[in-house]
Amino acid sequence: MKGLSSKDKQNSDRVLPFAAEAVAESLLGWYALAGRELPWRQTRDPYRIWLSEIMLQQTTVAAVVGYYRRFLERFPKLSALAAAPLEEVIDLWAGLGYYARARNLHATARQLVAERGGEFPCSVDELLQLPGIGRSTAGAISALAFDLRAPILDGNVRRILCRLCALQELPRSSSADKKLWLWAEWLTPQHRVHDYTQAIMDLGALVCTPKNPRCEQCPLESLCLARSCKLVDLLPLKAPGKQVPLRRQLALLLVDRQRCLVQRRPATGLLGGLWEFPGLDAGEGAPLDAIRQYYAGLKTISAIRLLGQARHAYSHFRLKVDFYRVELDPRDGVAEEAEHWLPLDDLEQLPLHGAHKKLLPLIGA
Ligand code: SF4
Repeated sequence: MKGLSSKDKQNSDRVLPFAAEAVAESLLGWYALAGRELPWRQTRDPYRIWLSEIMLQQTTVAAVVGYYRRFLERFPKLSALAAAPLEEVIDLWAGLGYYARARNLHATARQLVAERGGEFPCSVDELLQLPGIGRSTAGAISALAFDLRAPILDGNVRRILCRLCALQELPRSSSADKKLWLWAEWLTPQHRVHDYTQAIMDLGALVCTPKNPRCEQCPLESLCLARSCKLVDLLPLKAPGKQVPLRRQLALLLVDRQRCLVQRRPATGLLGGLWEFPGLDAGEGAPLDAIRQYYAGLKTISAIRLLGQARHAYSHFRLKVDFYRVELDPRDGVAEEAEHWLPLDDLEQLPLHGAHKKLLPLIGA
């Protein structure tokens, strides 16, 4: 595998190794034939475009489509989203992950209704003032809803530009970040920004994929420096793997007469506002003793049984959950007064967070 000469590298660091117009022209031609039809492509409504862009952050199109449709059924307009209680928005978001996005959606809707009569701003600078909107999302809304010349640099575009210009730096370093934004801006055409933005997103999703890119089908093949220098498999450069810590938790299915105890997490913080089974961090001691000690005051425990385990990965840690069924003595009667006792058959409908959703199949074990 041959690397770039130092002269090539210097040039690719400073200026684009091809005419910017050639990229836009090739991409637009390809997009007319191969672009995807997606539910949010039929509209220029900034509310719908913003909703799709927030949902698509760190999330695949396949996972987003159903959520996008359900959200619009329930909140067809920004004003409906602003008027809803936060809990309802979070419940509808359950399962999509990165829950701060749901809180930011709600906060943005309320801010826009209160300060701008429900109108979206069109400029990147004003969009950046709204909760949960970063530079690339602001660029996408500005380009897709208002056809304004605003670059985007999401994960797909970052990868394409690293390869197209054969950038031999870690793509998230501050020096690479500056170059990539500069290149993204140079490449964004003066006209047809809406189509160009969708085209480059589609190229990253369909052709210039993270693994096994389809270079022979790529409209940019003749321009691509990574392709001509045989660097495609090496770019973008990858940072050395980080050790992600493992946390252990005991989650409890506390059962009293075919009902179980569930609780909603506090509105702010990790998984804020989502539902879960009660639980405790797994310490060094025996789990059964810990459970008995922790819940001694609640009710008499008549039986405890391990149902199984589940694992879930978050961005900063991995979680391993041991799931116990704890039968409570019905003669105590405490459950009658408690608030969140749910029939076991209704658990499927509850918006549990991802790790505890994985426990549901274990209940019948
Ligand atoms: S030629 Fe290959 S590496 Fe280069 S932009 Fe196209 S798909 Fe990506």
